[in-house]
Amino acid sequence: MIYLDNASTTYPKPERVYQAMEKAGRTLAVNVGRGSYGLARQAFQLMEETREQICRFAHGNDTAQAVLTPSATIACNQVLGGLEWKREDQVYVTPFEHNAVMRVLYGLQKQYGFEVEELALDPVTLELDQEKISYQFLRKPPTVLVMTHVSNVTGGILPWQEIAELAEKSHPIVILDGAQSLGLVPVTLKNAPVDFYIFAGHKTLYGPLGIGGYINNRGRKLRPVLFGGTGRDSLNLEMGLSEPGGYEPGSRNITAIAGLHAALKEYEQISVKTCLEREQELRRRLIKKLNHLSRIILYNPAGTNVTGILSLNVEGYQAGDVGRVLDIEHQIAVRTGYHCGPLIHKYLKDEGYGGTVRVSLGRFTTEEELELLVEALEELCTDNF
Ligand code: PLP
Repeated sequence: MIYLDNASTTYPKPERVYQAMEKAGRTLAVNVGRGSYGLARQAFQLMEETREQICRFAHGNDTAQAVLTPSATIACNQVLGGLEWKREDQVYVTPFEHNAVMRVLYGLQKQYGFEVEELALDPVTLELDQEKISYQFLRKPPTVLVMTHVSNVTGGILPWQEIAELAEKSHPIVILDGAQSLGLVPVTLKNAPVDFYIFAGHKTLYGPLGIGGYINNRGRKLRPVLFGGTGRDSLNLEMGLSEPGGYEPGSRNITAIAGLHAALKEYEQISVKTCLEREQELRRRLIKKLNHLSRIILYNPAGTNVTGILSLNVEGYQAGDVGRVLDIEHQIAVRTGYHCGPLIHKYLKDEGYGGTVRVSLGRFTTEEELELLVEALEELCTDNF
């Protein structure tokens, strides 16, 4: 199989991730924070180290704290659900947001009645229109700003820093969804206007499924969204929220944490910048070849600030049918449809195709694999309608 669905989850993982998980599963899989014996302390130590690793990796503020959750989606629920919402709140989102953000906001909006507005996007370049956005902020100053760092549909890397700076006058709470970026796009949260940075262990970090979280970069207090045992202060029915563990009730997935820890260690040998440049170069070459095919429609942001995600369609075919042909006839795995992105498709005007065919490259994608993809698409393009 040629795996080009890395935006769903990166696959395979670095060998050391499998090894660390196997080892943890066999020698460390006790209940973290629940026992006072040596092995439980060792597991706790690994979890604490992983939290610190994540904060260092994202160059967070000195006081930044990482909360580990089972996925980025749960982290979005905890961060958004944990804010003190008011009816007068003015929320802005980019048109690239994932349903991990949008469905949560929609539910909260029904409950609290605040307004959610999309940031302006240039429909031709598929880039955020900063001039119009500054006007939006002038007209209705933001109290909460939610931005995905990298679009899981177009691969565009968003200028979050610039947008957050445009918004700074009204001191909004700024939330960045880094599910498609941490580990692939360099990020420095230190002194940056970011309150919460959400990450997914199993995507661009090349860790396992079952672990994600958020970095609380500026020490804002969140209300608890999840309740239950934390292994501490058990006679108290209030959640103890003075430390990250207070936001992590229930037994921890120590094998996944060990995998994430190993995935982060891998960056002692490779650099984020090199990973990104490699994906960008492969994507550039792929586009060059696809441009020779007459029936390919590319949904490509105008700038070069992209990761290895590329959405396309083949004229005359539904996106889902292209995916099926690639799978059955060529053993090429891609994702098709709307990719949990409810807002962006009105700009792509891809509804007639049932969404897009999303090709997403990864650390282990080769030029030869992309050549086979181009040949498969070429065959489709030359088929009679
Ligand atoms: N945010 C973005 C931008 C994503 O692409 C995804 C997953 O595709 C998520 C959030 C949710 O991640 P998870 O499914 O791991 O919870």
